[in-house]
Amino acid sequence: MIEKFRRVRIDSDLYELEIDGGKFTRVEFDRGDRTPEIGEGEWDAAGLLYMPTLADMHCHLDKHFIGERWRSRKRIDTLPNQLHREKELLASLSGTVEERARILLNLMLSHGTTRIRTHVDVDPELGLKHLEAVLKVREEYRGLMDIEIVAFPQQGLLRSRSYGVMREAMQSGADLVGAVDPGGLDRGIEPCLEQVFGLATEFNAGVDIHLHDPGHLGVYTIERMAEYAGQTGLQGRVAVSHAWGLGQITEAESADIGHKLREQGVSVITSVPIDRQMLNVPQLSSMGVDVRVGTDNVLDAWSPFGSGDMLERLGRLAEKCYWVEDEQLLGAYRYGTDKQLSPKVGDSADFVLVDAMNLEHAMASAPPREWVIVGGKPVAGRRFEGGLNK
Ligand SMILES: [Zn+2]
Repeated sequence: MIEKFRRVRIDSDLYELEIDGGKFTRVEFDRGDRTPEIGEGEWDAAGLLYMPTLADMHCHLDKHFIGERWRSRKRIDTLPNQLHREKELLASLSGTVEERARILLNLMLSHGTTRIRTHVDVDPELGLKHLEAVLKVREEYRGLMDIEIVAFPQQGLLRSRSYGVMREAMQSGADLVGAVDPGGLDRGIEPCLEQVFGLATEFNAGVDIHLHDPGHLGVYTIERMAEYAGQTGLQGRVAVSHAWGLGQITEAESADIGHKLREQGVSVITSVPIDRQMLNVPQLSSMGVDVRVGTDNVLDAWSPFGSGDMLERLGRLAEKCYWVEDEQLLGAYRYGTDKQLSPKVGDSADFVLVDAMNLEHAMASAPPREWVIVGGKPVAGRRFEGGLNK
């Protein structure tokens, strides 16, 4: 069936978008001078602005508390203490992991996110319980949400003796091998990275490590990760999440590590922290390092904050970097989407309609997502949920 979206605004003009088989087949100027007659499979955007759907490269589908009763938190003193508290809190939740995953996926979809990378807890105690639930839910959302899964030994790969269960997780269908602070938590950068890259090589998988280790400990770990990426032929498939250490060094040191990241194709993924120094996004990007953004915490054991809204998070990045010029505001989209900023014939018809003056304004204001369209079909958004079809 052919779908049509009439009076969709791109910059200051209105367009008619025709979609067949989930892809744009026609993008045509629409005079839009009168309310169009709307037939089956047609929608009137009535001048709402076109925005691409977004990719959230760091989240945890299995660990939020949305829909549960309020849980009080303590300030994080040491990582081992926090890990212990998180275990207890997670064990006290009433909902199933499947339910939790669906709740967050629906929330993210309603914000216009259609691609995510989720870390999923794995350890000898939990076994594959969380992973199996997320793998099941991934099937339910196939075609709506593109989901990459990192097998994530939250309690420390070495520390919790999770190598065996991580291997099972990779066998069961996880896409990437995770870890946490090879130095600070696992107390063994080399043995930890050997296990991580050994598994990644064995399963032809990517790597994505949570790295909170500060300053030069963090930087040294990242350097070793880049070297391992080169040695194992995993260039372009290795990522460092958080990489807080990169925010605590000089610009010259950051440039030095930036060269190594670019050479070995190692990405960095930031959640745009506002409670600490962030890695130097403008510098690393201008050097050609792949920098991505993820929302990470949403009402979980680590933080009561977070909305799972990538547009809001990208706006925070722009604000933090003082990107106020039009080109800079538009440039901020590259950290949160692989898609073009306007529809092109042949591309997948995944887009969001918002009430904003232009994409710069949308970046700065994160307006409500009125419609979220995947493969040419409305699937979420404020007006979709309100049942207003016209
Ligand atoms: Zn995380």
